[in-house]
Amino acid sequence: MNEPKGTTVQERKRCVICEQPRPSGIQLFESFICEGCEQEIVKTEIEDTAYYHFVRCLKKIALPKT
Ligand SMILES: [Zn+2]
Repeated sequence: MNEPKGTTVQERKRCVICEQPRPSGIQLFESFICEGCEQEIVKTEIEDTAYYHFVRCLKKIALPKT
């Protein structure tokens, strides 16, 4: 999972979110987003879906005996 795609590892770009120069991340149009912030974004975007999926699974598992 360490293959740079479109970005060079040698060139440290500044993340637009945390404003830190990072060796790896994704280039999104004109903006560079580091791996850490990318993870945060992905997490946030899927949070609702993941939450409901989690709840549904939990209901199956943790359903009290009736
Ligand atoms: Zn960042």
